[in-house]
Amino acid sequence: MKQHYPLFINGEFVESSSGEVIETFNPATGEVIGTVAKANREDVDKAVAAARAAFEQGKWPKMNAARRAKIMIKIASIMTERLPELIKAEVLNSGKTVSAAKGQIGQAIEDFEFYAAAAMTQSGDVNQVPNGFFNYTVKEPVGVCGQIIPWNYPLMMAAWKIAPALATGCTVVLKPASPTPITAYMLAEICQEAGVPAGVVNVITGSGSEIGPYMTEHPGIDKIAFTGETETGKDIMARASKTIKRITLELGGKSPNIVFDDCDIDGAVDGSLYGIFYNTGQSCEARSRLFVHANIYDRFMEKFIEKAKRLRVGDPFAEGVHMGAVISASHERVIDGYVKLAVEEGAEVLLGGKRPEGPEFEKGHWYMPTVIGNVRNDMRVAQEEIFGPVVVVMKFHDEQDVIRQANDTIFGLGSAIWTKDHGKAHRVASAIKAGIVMVNSPISAFPGTPFGGYKQSGFGRELALETLNLYTETKSVVSYV
Ligand code: NAD
Repeated sequence: MKQHYPLFINGEFVESSSGEVIETFNPATGEVIGTVAKANREDVDKAVAAARAAFEQGKWPKMNAARRAKIMIKIASIMTERLPELIKAEVLNSGKTVSAAKGQIGQAIEDFEFYAAAAMTQSGDVNQVPNGFFNYTVKEPVGVCGQIIPWNYPLMMAAWKIAPALATGCTVVLKPASPTPITAYMLAEICQEAGVPAGVVNVITGSGSEIGPYMTEHPGIDKIAFTGETETGKDIMARASKTIKRITLELGGKSPNIVFDDCDIDGAVDGSLYGIFYNTGQSCEARSRLFVHANIYDRFMEKFIEKAKRLRVGDPFAEGVHMGAVISASHERVIDGYVKLAVEEGAEVLLGGKRPEGPEFEKGHWYMPTVIGNVRNDMRVAQEEIFGPVVVVMKFHDEQDVIRQANDTIFGLGSAIWTKDHGKAHRVASAIKAGIVMVNSPISAFPGTPFGGYKQSGFGRELALETLNLYTETKSVVSYV
């Protein structure tokens, strides 16, 4: 990892037009670990011009898909060679544990492998038309893609965006989140080393509120693929309408986790702990509303809290640590504000509810695994995304009631069901209004499984074959023969 990353435009690292930089931090210590150049609008224009030239005149969009796929496989293999270095940079810059970073970067590698294979599956149709006519369709790359990503899974989100764009022959201007830009630049270097032509992948970091809207309205960008908060998504949707840009929105969530009384309790306890405390709760699909059936409520909660108490919070590089740091001081305040709000709303902190104590936590940004009971689903803590290690717990009595409560939210990203009754599992899975349903599973996605939301959690699915449709236009050729 370098101490300073300039912008990556047209295959070269270049300083920003203004000469300004953004400091980047280690959330576990609060120390500055490096700087990146701070892009302004002029730099966006340069990156878009490079991506446009690579799309209109370059060889990438027209390259045989098998050759593109080979380059993408090479990206995956260089990432594998540089895995220890990528993990170290990701942990340093995001505060997540080594095991979380390893899992996410492992998946990022598989994403490139998956989309390398997918690149070769693209095909058009021949449609039945009246005699004398002939019709076929072709898939064409949508063009220059502006890709805007959040800080919680820095490299994995970059892979989710770049891999399908490359597979379809698009070109990219990627904007990582300001707190976590490092691994996106490392990935840009890797793409270049693997043989991605100059201008196909460009990476620029800058103020989200300045260059984000500028990218969204930019006439040189054909599509915006965005992952982030629902409020930002609304702004993007409004601005993108001015140029009828194609958009994909992967937004926030407040996912229900439903524990029925016929489940394997130990499995459900472990899966529910993972569901909320993985990545320090900073996951869009965090199962942050825990519904437990009244018949097992006391037994389940005793085990859940006992195990949550034993989760080790601390140095993300240390072995055996379950939860690393939270991303920033301001985010720590947001999390703590929600816990205080919960108490004001009449809920009860059953565990945590504060920053951990001890010399290890004097610096950096931290929050304890937090369990809040005595919650009603209409409270703000049950309706708003906290994006931290805070779970709200509610007791339920019957299936219909829990389905109603689970769906009583503006969000619809993830959901989980714990039961041994397969009939019930699939009945509830069908009734839940969410893009992802986990049945007795702590894991929400693999390369190949569609990931995305219902309702205000966004639209468009990433990580799957169908994602290719979001990076292509269908051209219908009708000919009279
Ligand atoms: P955010 O919306 O604040 O920022 C996301 C990105 O958008 C950043 O790069 C930021 O600089 C940029 N940005 C900010 N304002 C912008 C604007 N007006 N126009 C364009 N870009 C702008 O989100 P965050 O705090 O970085 O990330 C956390 C959020 O991301 C949570 O809500 C989480 O649920 C969501 N998320 C969703 C998924 C998913 O797949 N659905 C995955 C991960 C994270």
